[in-house]
Amino acid sequence: MITASPEILHVNPNPWHIPRPKKLTFMHLPREVRLRIYEFVLVEIPRWDKKHHLKCRCRPRLDSDDTEHPPFLQSMVKITPVPPKFHIATTTRCDCAKRKGLSLLLASREINQAASPIFWSLNTFCFLDSMEFLATVGHRLQPKHQQRIQSVSFMSPDARGMPRHVRLYGRRRRHIEPFWQAIRKCIRLRHLELPAWYINPAHFNIHRSNQLAKALPHLQSLEISHLLPYSNKAHSWGYPSPWYKQPEERTFYVRCSRRVPLVRDGSWTNQAAKDLFRELQHNFRVHVDTAVKTKLLGATIDGLEEYRTTFRLPRQLDEHNCVRRITLPSGETTTIRFYGLRTSNQTRLRVVQEKKSAGSEAEAEK
Ligand SMILES: [Zn+2]
Ligand SMILES: [Zn+2]
Repeated sequence: MITASPEILHVNPNPWHIPRPKKLTFMHLPREVRLRIYEFVLVEIPRWDKKHHLKCRCRPRLDSDDTEHPPFLQSMVKITPVPPKFHIATTTRCDCAKRKGLSLLLASREINQAASPIFWSLNTFCFLDSMEFLATVGHRLQPKHQQRIQSVSFMSPDARGMPRHVRLYGRRRRHIEPFWQAIRKCIRLRHLELPAWYINPAHFNIHRSNQLAKALPHLQSLEISHLLPYSNKAHSWGYPSPWYKQPEERTFYVRCSRRVPLVRDGSWTNQAAKDLFRELQHNFRVHVDTAVKTKLLGATIDGLEEYRTTFRLPRQLDEHNCVRRITLPSGETTTIRFYGLRTSNQTRLRVVQEKKSAGSEAEAEK
């Protein structure tokens, strides 16, 4: 009796078959593909736009009409100067605003070298307070990474740019110049968003503006913004605490912004700086605020603060419909963006359907 040897039986009759490499690793992928994967993993939407996951306990209950407390406002940062650096401790209620793909940068030296330029150059880095930036990017980041950053955004619910979410031990004043120095180290910066208070001529004078223009050749303009809080309850700071919500509290935020060219020809004057600040801080902010209270929240022009009692959100606004164009009394139209709105009907429907199908699957398995 003839028996085929096992070797013969295993010969692949297909001559086109390409033998598999012994071990196919990530590094066998073409470089282009790898770079796209790094980008996919490491580049995220700005922290401002992240919402709570469906299963996060910080999300409003589906059967309620509660507004969402946005993840970026649910953090507490403690900054302690420990010369020459800072100690920084951040506490958050959930992970929804955290970056997800960072472990990729630690995977290997080779991956880190290829991926970190993508991470630093393509993300927008968001901060509630300038001191957070100084303590991290300013004091902890290597110069080569600082120089890759192209987009930085500061946004604060606090009208004076010092949100209670960030606590700095010691005097703030002495860190203002180091903050601007740290910004100037990001020499590839193309986009810089600042709360209007930051360009208050009391501390942002012509000299500072000229230094910025000189150090940052790619920065054509500043985006100056306000983040305005609206709540049916009064808050001693003007906006809710990072942690606590009063019973029945509904709060949302409106961001409005204007692009201001960065003057490079030395023609910027003290008077122009003052006028610009007044225009942004008083006219623009007040006009947007008035429009929100009268057109959306049911207040009258003579009783703007009564909006708290008439407080109700238009049906069309929710987590997925959060951008509006509004016309200001000056005739100017501007785009405003809402944060912390309620759950959309699409989401409610989706969750209900998912639960149903999970239920019927469980039923089928019985
Ligand atoms: Zn969350
Ligand atoms: Zn979560």
